Amino acid sequence: MKTFCGRANPTTGAMEWLEEDENYDYHQEIARSRYADMLHDKDRNMKYYQGIRAAVSRVKERGEKAIVLDIGTGTGLLSMMAASAGADFCYAIEVFKPMANAAVKIVEKNGFRDKIKVINKHSTEVTVGPDGDMQCRANILVTELFDTELIGEGALPTYEHAHKYLVKEGCEAVPHRATVYVQLVESKRMWSWNKLFPIRVEAEDGEKIIVSPSEMENCPGVPSVCDIQLNQMPSSDFAILSDVVTMFSVDFSKPVRSASTYYRVQLEPVKSGKAQIVLSWWDIDMDPSGTINCTMAPYWVKSTSAFQWRDHWMQCVYFLPNEEPVLQGEKVYLTASRDEYSVWYKLQKASGEEENKADFRVESPVCRCQAHLLWNRPRFGELNDQNRTHQYIKSLMNVLKTDSVCLCISDGSLLPMLAHYLGAKQVQYFLLLFFLLLLSSSIHFFKANHLEDKIKVVEARPELLTSSHLEDKKISILVGEPFFTTSLLPWHNLYFWYARTAVTKHLASNVTVLPQSASLHMMIVEFQDLWRIRSPCGICEGFDVRTMDDMIKNSLDFRESKEAEPHPLWEYPCKSLSDPREVLIFDFRKTVPQQCLSTEGSVNLLRKGRSHGAVLWMEYHLTADISVSTGLMQISNEKGNCEWNPHCKQAVYFFSSVIESETLADLPSAVTYAINFDTKTGEIAMDFKL
Ligand code: SAH
Repeated sequence: MKTFCGRANPTTGAMEWLEEDENYDYHQEIARSRYADMLHDKDRNMKYYQGIRAAVSRVKERGEKAIVLDIGTGTGLLSMMAASAGADFCYAIEVFKPMANAAVKIVEKNGFRDKIKVINKHSTEVTVGPDGDMQCRANILVTELFDTELIGEGALPTYEHAHKYLVKEGCEAVPHRATVYVQLVESKRMWSWNKLFPIRVEAEDGEKIIVSPSEMENCPGVPSVCDIQLNQMPSSDFAILSDVVTMFSVDFSKPVRSASTYYRVQLEPVKSGKAQIVLSWWDIDMDPSGTINCTMAPYWVKSTSAFQWRDHWMQCVYFLPNEEPVLQGEKVYLTASRDEYSVWYKLQKASGEEENKADFRVESPVCRCQAHLLWNRPRFGELNDQNRTHQYIKSLMNVLKTDSVCLCISDGSLLPMLAHYLGAKQVQYFLLLFFLLLLSSSIHFFKANHLEDKIKVVEARPELLTSSHLEDKKISILVGEPFFTTSLLPWHNLYFWYARTAVTKHLASNVTVLPQSASLHMMIVEFQDLWRIRSPCGICEGFDVRTMDDMIKNSLDFRESKEAEPHPLWEYPCKSLSDPREVLIFDFRKTVPQQCLSTEGSVNLLRKGRSHGAVLWMEYHLTADISVSTGLMQISNEKGNCEWNPHCKQAVYFFSSVIESETLADLPSAVTYAINFDTKTGEIAMDFKL
């Protein structure tokens, strides 16, 4: 059987449906899954084990048999913990077939075949009774169905169903309860991921300001959670406006209601400021007394030094629908509304009068300006990056003339407006027609800045551009950031080069292309933590989970050539072990060549450390002496700590084996590489040898 997978073609910018082997989906699922990260989460595993032991003891003390229901068993880990703790029988439910198969093997290998029954079903399909999947209802309910937002993976409806049909009243639950915490902050950095700030342009005829449309100013944005490694956010990047407060908690040992509801807390700001952001995280108590606690609290809240890195549970950034000034000591109400799967927030001033019994439920935010649908959070951040904008302004000023005919190729870009203000007589803005969203939001933008007559939006694919679109003029300046919404890996923005090639016949003979070229850069790194997500686990809390390791490895090797994967490295500290190396150059002044671009070479390892992989990124050379980097910004000290562009994802290629050098003397001298850019597919294949 074949399945179809959606993927953007970097040579056409278009979404294509590729026929893939039926196993492709599940290999992707496993290879890119968080199972390895969970198995490496020592803190989580230990606390689950303690909580499970305590729950089994409590049931045994009551003189009952301990019958466990483990919903979402994955590798079977929590069921094996329960069986080891003395549970009489475990029903291990897993909906994802490849995982259920793995669980059967792992359970058997660890000698629990008689104690654990793996059931490959969604928990809501499980039957109870003499002929059912379960002989009887369970009296211990064990689950790990949480995501960073706690409820995003459907924990609430699953619990609701389990209490109705699968467990006894008064059952023990591990975890026993979850609590969601919030803290109100002001942060220009995080707010810049949600709103477009005015952009100042020093033009020859005075300062111009690009403003966002009013629809956007007042837009509540999208409800999708923004989850990040908040521990990488320096405290200088936000101002705390309130104490940490409990927003709501869920007791998993009692019937759970998943229906939409809201929670309201009163906050007394500890500082005056602009309330923009709600930071949120949760903790789980594994036992009723709360002595076994596993918390996602960020560094400024947690006092314990024992810090556990994890990627499967992070922290949430919620954007308030609009910025609210708050005064120190002047009470405000924060409302969290939720449906079955997500949470959103609203801040209201206290009225001072007796609370009326109004319904405080707030409708889920719906983006009205379309920009939040078009631009993701990092893209907002990138457009708000004044340094970056300044580089574009400087280089445009270098090349623009009053009679320039300018064609712009980039998605949802502000470049056409910059080009106009900086003097281009005629600006054509290319839009790829399959993004209607782009069209309407760009038009909103041009209107808000009274430029709708000045910038002509061409609704055609580059290869279909005609002279009449251009009013029979030749293009003297072709510009791009370049940025395309469908790009996943850094080099996918090379679509600009393909588009440039497609419009060649419309370019003046002395055309200026900006950026004039791009380069691919590569560096060998040691990750502080990210390596865990691709590293085998072996033995987890005494249980042999190598079957899972093999399965992940098999899925990673499913494609002959391993692929690089995108990661926002500002969230994942690493140090450089080699110097950065420019490996390929793409000359936008020329068309895309027929033959592939390849390179081979070796980089010296300069520092001791573990070579986990290579990081790759693009740099764009706007003019001969102005460049912007989408990757490395700088190596900050002699230890090799790296600073990355915070608005872009970099490509990470994990080495299949890690080389470790304790001393400089035993350093392998170099890592050899072979990198090939296939001009037909727009993809880059690579191979490294240690
Ligand atoms: N319990 C394991 C794995 C947790 S990951 C551990 O702690 O290491 C959660 C797993 O639950 C995933 O494998 C997912 O496929 C499964 N899952 C989620 N909801 C489910 C449901 N309602 N019924 C059955 N499986 C579910």
